[in-house]
Amino acid sequence: MTDNHSWPALSPLATGLAARCPRCGKGRLLEKVLDVRARCDVCGLDLSNHDSGDGPAVFVILFLGAVVVGLAIALEVAFAPPMWIHAAVWIPLISGLSIVLLRLFKGVLIALHYRNLRHEYGDGC
Ligand SMILES: [Zn+2]
Repeated sequence: MTDNHSWPALSPLATGLAARCPRCGKGRLLEKVLDVRARCDVCGLDLSNHDSGDGPAVFVILFLGAVVVGLAIALEVAFAPPMWIHAAVWIPLISGLSIVLLRLFKGVLIALHYRNLRHEYGDGC
């Protein structure tokens, strides 16, 4: 399908943040919420063996943890609310932002992986 096609060099940041295929920039990279598609539906790039593993989770834990702990301390110092307020505020916020950030980081890491280790995708160099 794509053997003799030359693909333009795409920005890993742009394709990753948009969760698009790192080769063509048009096909969707993720299905359901966080699963990597087996194959790009536009260019046919095999993505089945190139999940980003725990890399995105590490970045999300570090980034979101620092931000939320800082905000929780600020809320506690400013208003000293009961614990159920903390639970009602932080659990939904952490859950929602984790999913959003995991999609972004996963897309960028897979795009960077494709750009720097293209031969592992059977795409030549
Ligand atoms: Zn593609």
